[in-house]
Amino acid sequence: MTTATPGTVYLVGAGPGDPELLTLKAARLLSTADVVLHDDLVPQAVLSHAENALVINVGKRCGHKNITQAQIEAMMIDYAHRGLSVVRLKSGDPLVFGRAGEEIDALRAAAIPHEVVPGITAAFAAAAALRRPLTDRRSASSISFSSGHHAPGSALEPASLTGATRVVYMPGRDLTDLAMQLRNEGHASDLPCVIVSRAAQPDQQVVRTILADLDSIPPVPAPSILLAGEALRQADSDAMALPDLQPGQGDQGFESTEI
Ligand code: SAH
Repeated sequence: MTTATPGTVYLVGAGPGDPELLTLKAARLLSTADVVLHDDLVPQAVLSHAENALVINVGKRCGHKNITQAQIEAMMIDYAHRGLSVVRLKSGDPLVFGRAGEEIDALRAAAIPHEVVPGITAAFAAAAALRRPLTDRRSASSISFSSGHHAPGSALEPASLTGATRVVYMPGRDLTDLAMQLRNEGHASDLPCVIVSRAAQPDQQVVRTILADLDSIPPVPAPSILLAGEALRQADSDAMALPDLQPGQGDQGFESTEI
């Protein structure tokens, strides 16, 4: 069934996992939505705002294993054509590594009204977990967001930026290639590198190391993100005053390596 006036599709950021890090606008749109199509990483506490909506997990890992991107786009368009208000809910910020470009192109082609509601991306939740800035006028004047996930056979792009803090989404379990890439970019072997697992979630973990040891870090629970750069170098007093691993929370049997 289609109506003369299509509903609006809202591409909404759910934030990194802590429900308090959801924006007020996201909470309002969820509470008034007719349909919510969400990814795997969105926590239940965030979804609970969608009291009156049909909530569908279109995540490829836990929701619909075989769902294609084209099917997700068709669902958004179909529900909007029925005059319904649709929230397309993505973890973090919807415009960061979320295939939003393809979805926006599809909505535009179908003449469906759409809006984007930003969210707190994982990089910022990770930086908050570390209590370190991503920029620091003494050591980092830029930030680079990149993806460690590449189609099989594709090369890692050279992303060398002097004086940048590198944030790598989807770093994968094996950090060998990333470590090699950072070394090839000419970074010092004592470059601070940090993996933050499940940032802004109760079982958040921080594993600190240096570039020389990056490829020997044991795997951490997903999702995790890698940060590297001089701005992450931690003052000794800070490290002592604020231990990263919280007792009884997320201790997976390995220790964080303080830098
Ligand atoms: N749009 C999201 C990113 C989606 S890509 C955002 O803005 O955050 C998915 C990747 O994001 C994961 O593989 C992981 O690298 C990162 N990520 C998402 N949530 C995370 C979290 N709570 N802690 C650590 N990394 C996270």
